[in-house]
Amino acid sequence: MEKQRLLECTDLHTSFFMEGNREVKAVNGVSYYVDKGEVVAVVGESGCGKSVTQMSVMQLIKSPGKVLSGDVVFDGIQLLKDGKPAADMNKIRGNQIAMIFQEPMTSLNPVFTVGEQIVDIIRQHKKLGRRDAWKLGEESLAAVGIPDAAARMKNYPFEMSGGMRQRVLIAFAVALESELIIADEPTTALDVTVQAQVMELLMDIKKRNNSSIIVVTHNLGLVSRYADRIYVMYAGRIIESGTTEEILTNPKHPYTKGLLAAVPKLENKKRENLVPIDGAPPSLVGLPDRCAFYPRCAYATRECEQKAYPCLRLVEKADHYAACHLADEEE
Ligand code: SF4
Repeated sequence: MEKQRLLECTDLHTSFFMEGNREVKAVNGVSYYVDKGEVVAVVGESGCGKSVTQMSVMQLIKSPGKVLSGDVVFDGIQLLKDGKPAADMNKIRGNQIAMIFQEPMTSLNPVFTVGEQIVDIIRQHKKLGRRDAWKLGEESLAAVGIPDAAARMKNYPFEMSGGMRQRVLIAFAVALESELIIADEPTTALDVTVQAQVMELLMDIKKRNNSSIIVVTHNLGLVSRYADRIYVMYAGRIIESGTTEEILTNPKHPYTKGLLAAVPKLENKKRENLVPIDGAPPSLVGLPDRCAFYPRCAYATRECEQKAYPCLRLVEKADHYAACHLADEEE
């Protein structure tokens, strides 16, 4: 079946302007795409720009942050043109693109019941009366596996567990039949069993509505079972991208190799041989022009120190790109 592009983001730049004229370059020329029905993972350590990228696409960046440039097209609609808003995101957010955050309490209003909130969102986007919206809300809670959905509609968010609140947010996307769900660290605050349940649930919704999903996470192990393609980010840039199979079996960038070495294997019960990546991500203020991973890279050469930042380039078949001077070399 021919793939259809749903979201395309080109050369996005977003910075935060701090006291003393310091510019934090959080997103530094990021381009990526998502096809219809596809699950894409954006992976990297915290502070690498993966969440800010998605917030920029959704026009949720607030001062002192600013989208400086970049184009975003969603389902043929121009959302951002050269960094400027080009569409009314209030109509698109929720209805066509749903965003699920790490801590659902920040997205749910503590003073209204879950039922009131879901009805409100449904009625903002669909021409439904209150009674029909309530029914749809109840069905959506049931669809995401919340037991006794009718009673749960009357609960306040604080009366639910973290896992259940996360399900409520996914239920919003179910009710609105969102074409794209952006799940930003959707499982970080949850225990391992609930993490897997939330991911399975997202996959069910994808099948049910033929939605596309972007999962933003630091947990490469978790998404490797679910994603069709992976983008790896470091210091505000995409440093490697490819199909999940290519990234897992044939990683080209030393940072990706490091992330993979730090993923616990199921058969490795004692967590032997897990190798965390030495050092910390660089400050995003005044990044040098060379490869940002250089100070932490076990493969670095003199060339890496002297040459300008390596651009992403095709290194393998199947849409596999890496930004490393040594990516083409045989191991
Ligand atoms: Fe390491 Fe050099 Fe590749 Fe950067 S360009 S990741 S320093 S080998």
